[in-house]
Amino acid sequence: MARPSETQTQLLLRSKARVINRMKEFDAWVSLPFLSLLSVELGVLRKSAIRRHGATRWKYGTNFSKGIFSNPDVVDIHPELLNDQWRDYLDFVMYHEFIHCMGFKNHDSDFRSLESLWGFDFGRAKQFSEHLSFVRAKYVWKCPNCENKYPRSRRSNGRYLCRDCKTILIDEEN
Ligand SMILES: [Zn+2]
Ligand SMILES: [Zn+2]
Repeated sequence: MARPSETQTQLLLRSKARVINRMKEFDAWVSLPFLSLLSVELGVLRKSAIRRHGATRWKYGTNFSKGIFSNPDVVDIHPELLNDQWRDYLDFVMYHEFIHCMGFKNHDSDFRSLESLWGFDFGRAKQFSEHLSFVRAKYVWKCPNCENKYPRSRRSNGRYLCRDCKTILIDEEN
């Protein structure tokens, strides 16, 4: 976990408000005390995080009960999600973590049915993962023929071919 800047905090709070407002529209949430989510503290994951896009942290020994607010320490969100182009995915990750906060600890069928209310295109999650690999890569292996790009941590030194057109890839610093 890293400390969010003032700007990051503002963006996180705006997403939280959007998500809670939308939760009010879902019948499945009406009878549950989800307004407790207003008290959840928000933070950011390390910039270098690659696999996790959000995480909820609890105090040791927290008891979980589905539909009961679990009072977590903090919900951490990937800082790269705070760029405007990822706003839709930011809100979805926030919503996903909020379901955890409401006592649904595991990704079981109850969790997934609440999650599916949001109507999210999972292709966006994959795009974000790809975006993170680009942000992190030291080199981009470029295909001079078809514009394909492959983010990598080391040089290809002329040893690799483009997956699609079999042209030798060229190294560029990222
Ligand atoms: Zn989860
Ligand atoms: Zn190619």
